[in-house]
Amino acid sequence: MPVTFRPELDSLQTYVPPKSWRMAAEGRADDYAKLTSNELAFGPLPEAEAALSEALPRANRYPDSHVSRLREVIAEANAGVETANVMVGNGSSEVLLNALQLLPAGGEVVFPWPSFSLYPMLCAVLGMKTRPVPLTRDNGLPAEAMLSALTDETRAVILCNPNNPSGTYLPLSEVRGFAGELPDDVLLILDEAYVEFVDDPLYKDSHALALEGGNVVVARTFSKAHGLAGLRVGYGISSERVADYAERVRFPVSVNLAAQVAATASMLAREKVRARAEFAIRERGRLQEAFGAANLDFIPSQGNFVMVRFGADEFERSGILVREGGALGYPGWSRVTVGRSEENDRVIGAVS
Ligand SMILES: *Cc1c(COP(=O)(O)O)cnc(C)c1O
Repeated sequence: MPVTFRPELDSLQTYVPPKSWRMAAEGRADDYAKLTSNELAFGPLPEAEAALSEALPRANRYPDSHVSRLREVIAEANAGVETANVMVGNGSSEVLLNALQLLPAGGEVVFPWPSFSLYPMLCAVLGMKTRPVPLTRDNGLPAEAMLSALTDETRAVILCNPNNPSGTYLPLSEVRGFAGELPDDVLLILDEAYVEFVDDPLYKDSHALALEGGNVVVARTFSKAHGLAGLRVGYGISSERVADYAERVRFPVSVNLAAQVAATASMLAREKVRARAEFAIRERGRLQEAFGAANLDFIPSQGNFVMVRFGADEFERSGILVREGGALGYPGWSRVTVGRSEENDRVIGAVS
């Protein structure tokens, strides 16, 4: 008799990376514009690179397991936040995992769908049931339908805002209204991986939601606007109680030395990060204009990517690698990450 595994794992598959990752591993992606994974098109800020070189000789030592300095700069960057409100993790993926790990097993997690593929995966691993709620007809986040989907079993709602892969978002006033309607014993996890790319001036200081209510976690990452996806570091803002419990379940040294120093330096240089995000916002507008001019259906985006009804194969023939929409619930579409100007020019050339 083989060892018995938990049956809920049977339906899980290992992560299938985008084709471009495999091509890159085989050295076949060099001539392509890599617009697949919503990464920043630029390397880490010079400040982050300098911090990395300075820290490297200390790599024989374990880093600060509490990640204190990074927690401090995150608190300084968010009005009203104390270090006791800050969660850290090996990517915001770990912050999401730790938040869900606090909840009793067996309950249900509600989230819009299509959304980030990690959510159902985490739920399966944790033995939680999922209740995906379809996006609205125009690909919007279904706030009302999610409220209607709540049951006595609901332990958490994950709201990806702006949503990956649709790029649509819920204005902050609506998020606040939604949070207010949630029962106090349901955890709201607001995944703001793309918040730096929101150009709605009213969407700011969303972390205040986490300070106002005891049941809100705002999860953010250094993988997108900060350009540090390869180092794996993210953070969350929550009530002290949630942050305290999350720290109890976090793997003790999950945020490595390189991630800690680079993320700290990048957060301290956040005006430069903001300038890069503003560049991506302008370039997103240029892409969307070109999609419109070419009469292609596209979803107006608040992220650093745009969903467009244009085949990934066709993009590839023009030297551009994008995320196949079929893998994201949009067959025949592509999710195009905003790249450098010349990469975006290539995209515009391909559809024009
Ligand atoms: C990219 C992304 C993240 C970030 O994941 P990390 O683990 O921080 O790299 C989180 N949520 C969504 C929806 C994303 O698209």
